[in-house]
Amino acid sequence: MATISDYIGKSARANVEQALERARQHESHHAFLAYTENRALERADRVDAGEISGPLAGVPFVVKDNYLTFGAPTTAASKILEPFQAPLQATVIEKLEAAGAICVGKTNLDAFAHGGSTENSAYGPTKNAVDESKVAGGSSGGSAVATALDIVPFALGSDTGGSIRQPASFNGVIGVKPTYGMTSRYGVVAMASSTDVMGCFTHTAEDAELVLSVMAGKDARDMTTLEDYFTPATSAPQSLRIGLISDFMTDDVDADVREVTSIYADSLRAAGHTVENVNIPSAKYTLAMYYIIVPAEISSNLARYDGIRYGKRSSEAKSLEEVYGKSRDEGFVTENKRRIMIGSFVLSSGFFDAYYQKAQKARTLLINEFNALFEKYDILLCPVSPTPAFGFGENTADPIKMYLSDAMTVAASLAGIPAMSVPAGTSKDGLPIGVQLMAQRKQDALLLSLAKSMEGKS
Ligand code: GLN
Repeated sequence: MATISDYIGKSARANVEQALERARQHESHHAFLAYTENRALERADRVDAGEISGPLAGVPFVVKDNYLTFGAPTTAASKILEPFQAPLQATVIEKLEAAGAICVGKTNLDAFAHGGSTENSAYGPTKNAVDESKVAGGSSGGSAVATALDIVPFALGSDTGGSIRQPASFNGVIGVKPTYGMTSRYGVVAMASSTDVMGCFTHTAEDAELVLSVMAGKDARDMTTLEDYFTPATSAPQSLRIGLISDFMTDDVDADVREVTSIYADSLRAAGHTVENVNIPSAKYTLAMYYIIVPAEISSNLARYDGIRYGKRSSEAKSLEEVYGKSRDEGFVTENKRRIMIGSFVLSSGFFDAYYQKAQKARTLLINEFNALFEKYDILLCPVSPTPAFGFGENTADPIKMYLSDAMTVAASLAGIPAMSVPAGTSKDGLPIGVQLMAQRKQDALLLSLAKSMEGKS
């Protein structure tokens, strides 16, 4: 697997051509919705001519198709945005381009990032990089698969409740969701504004440090961004206190997943850290909190797709009301509609206190529990998802079954803490399994340095 340094100092045009050729060789995986070929080659020639330089000069990458990007439409894998050509680029894309990196394509996702398998894409699912009969995971399935197939050394995803970490685990790559606010959300199609975080997929923790140090920092156009605090650590962390979250190691978690997590815990001990079992009493309520708060924010963020301001308008509509209704009916997939309806319900006047407000109170309790744990522990460890990658159609009939795949990732999203998925082993059937590491807010550098120090040790 090639890492970023393998691309540095080479012809940018050759790097871009190689990435596009590999992408085309793997077209049956359906990781891509579009290539940004012309723009990529133009920029490559500018890098080769010395007009653009920087720490990522000539390094190709891909982005989830919910990032506003030049060179191809931005669809968020939905029909409603099918023809939408972005008038601007996401801040983090601008930063990566300024550092010399070159975007070669837009990757598949669950429409509007609603899902955990990429099966909710309006353009068909992405296949797992290791086993084509299994899902890629999601919602950033295309970016995870493009990295795992070695098409590019890094890819961007968005993580609202696990959409970087879970597909990273399913495909055997690193996936990092930084602290909420470390990276700008500006220019990315909003899902749930209080948990949306932009992050990346890579093959090594060191590459993630490099990419994130370019992406991080205050953005005047995103009021939730933090002052830049991210500086990769220069030495490996010693004698850390690590808590293994036992609420996520119960019998209903796949045995291979538990085993891989326990072995990783042992290798942490062997590396001189202490690992103790810890509990998060609210853990069992996090899915319930998430699936109230997130749909509420979705219903409000998706109100702007009305068939008038963005994208497609239904040709069937005969009145203004029908423009709204039919455009939204034709443009959204079932899961988008389900979330809009749940969100509207939990925000409605009769139910606001019973659902939305209660979920927000529970979220505060969860944050308090994390804060208490981080008084005693530097890092928390648990699985990423209860199972390795599942088969196509296995969970689509029952949305609750699909939501269960998020049981271990949504807690870090609700608390806004940094979390990452690290490849740690395989199932008996050879499917990749990652483990999840979490740290206190703004401790992204510690998280990455621990992952880096453990590479090759588990
Ligand atoms: N699978 C989760 C969901 O469907 C997470 C999605 C995400 O992080 N974008 O909500």
